[in-house]
Amino acid sequence: MTPYLGFLPLTRRALLGTLTALTVVAIAGQAVAYEVVISPTAPQLGDTIAVTIRAEQPGAGNPPVVTVNGGTQYPAFPLGENRFRALIPTSPLDPPGRMVIQVSGSEDTRNLAVGLKNRDFPTQRINLGPNQRDLGTQHEFDRVAAFKRLVTPERFWQGTMVRPSQGQISTSYGVRRYYNGVFAQDYYHRGVDYAAATGSPVVAPAAGRIALVGRVADGFELHGNTIGIDHGQGVLSIMIHLSRIDVNEGDFVQPGQVIGGVGSTGASTGPHLHWGLYVHGVSVDPVPWREGRFE
Ligand SMILES: [Zn+2]
Repeated sequence: MTPYLGFLPLTRRALLGTLTALTVVAIAGQAVAYEVVISPTAPQLGDTIAVTIRAEQPGAGNPPVVTVNGGTQYPAFPLGENRFRALIPTSPLDPPGRMVIQVSGSEDTRNLAVGLKNRDFPTQRINLGPNQRDLGTQHEFDRVAAFKRLVTPERFWQGTMVRPSQGQISTSYGVRRYYNGVFAQDYYHRGVDYAAATGSPVVAPAAGRIALVGRVADGFELHGNTIGIDHGQGVLSIMIHLSRIDVNEGDFVQPGQVIGGVGSTGASTGPHLHWGLYVHGVSVDPVPWREGRFE
């Protein structure tokens, strides 16, 4: 398999333009191959990579599976006639460089290479005293972990995600930290912070189903009052440190709908909204989603 960026070779495309895929199969039992487009073509750490796949055969059975670097598999979901899409998350913890994306299923396997670009994230220096204990209860960790594993086949979001708070961004996505002078290898700021007055509105960035409501009173001592929204297909939002919660688990919300208020509950030093956007359990940069790059 030769890694090939983008579409099938033009000669083959031209051939397919004049014959139906079924005819091609019938003539010689010739292999049929997925047509794969990777977007963005030059992703950087934190980007969500969309792998859009067109099957040659009409009614091509099950959606293909996308495998990254021979390891993690990501599901592809239907995106119209003979079209599928998988979303691959990247984060500041990923090694920059060559990524091999394999598409396999009922048609010939395709291997494509993409270069994941390095990116400089801002850093913070935090000094912890000897008696500062780690906050968080097993109950909240379990519930948040279960939420982050959700992959609902339906797609609820549509187009551009809206800003969930009118506050100024106080800490951007991906900030790295030194604790007492030591670089924290596993830490990055898994979201965007908006500084705003206590009680100011928090809105849903996109449509979805409320899949998590957690309260300080129930043991959410680290996240504080928390709302998790399932946007479908492994795309999730988590809003933490809220002063109040206006929704219930199972509610369906629309983009721009008020769901709660900015607060400083949990491990927080002042009123702000922390919005984490997750794709298949990995916190990704919300900026491309705010720009509407994912239909
Ligand atoms: Zn934050």
